[in-house]
Amino acid sequence: MEMYEIQRKELIEQLVRKGIKDKNVLDAMLQIERHKFVSGSTIMHAYEDVALPLGYGQTISQPYTVAYMTQELKVKKDMKILEVGTGSGYQAAILEKMGARVYSIERNFDIYAKTQKLFDELGIRVYCKLGDGTIGWEEFAPFNGIIVTAGSPSIPNALLKQLEIGGRLVIPVGDRETQSLKIVKRLNEKECAQKNIPNFRFVPLIGREGWSKEL
Ligand code: SAM
Repeated sequence: MEMYEIQRKELIEQLVRKGIKDKNVLDAMLQIERHKFVSGSTIMHAYEDVALPLGYGQTISQPYTVAYMTQELKVKKDMKILEVGTGSGYQAAILEKMGARVYSIERNFDIYAKTQKLFDELGIRVYCKLGDGTIGWEEFAPFNGIIVTAGSPSIPNALLKQLEIGGRLVIPVGDRETQSLKIVKRLNEKECAQKNIPNFRFVPLIGREGWSKEL
């Protein structure tokens, strides 16, 4: 048995107690080894339900947040999903495990390069790009789902435009400290339905349609 298997199972049980119901999300999180997406002394905390530092002032999100956002995306096999903020690659790995075709954008070169190497080592197939994800990825649009893993001052217009009708965008919106999670469903060319879940904390989304710079 792999060293962290029991801890990983206990984490999944915690997520169920906290209200995560989507079996496909729970199965993927049971299989993806979160300890491989962090390094150094943080490895021993990999199966605690907490965000962990990635270096460069960035974080790998709390497992509950990853599970909740993924559940809200309503992922199905072969769906085309855009992720903004590749970070450690953990969220993208879960989406890939669920059978999605994942396109992921990261703006920090060092994080991008490190995560590319990890994806290669682990055989994870995610299409990655270095750049500003607030403008989306026009070349592969429209997407069936878009997930933004950094906090934005507002919903970037470009991302809404690149969302397929019937698709969902999950994005934290608020100030630099706290955000509510917005789940936007595109109903038709002009209309969207939206719900808000308060009290999330993400690092800032920096870019043309995000915050202008890191403080
Ligand atoms: N999804 C990640 C994971 O599974 O580890 C967590 C990402 S971390 C909370 C947010 C990431 O978004 C950071 O790596 C940061 O550099 C990146 N980021 C911030 N603004 C961005 C932008 N405009 N485009 C792409 N990436 C951005």
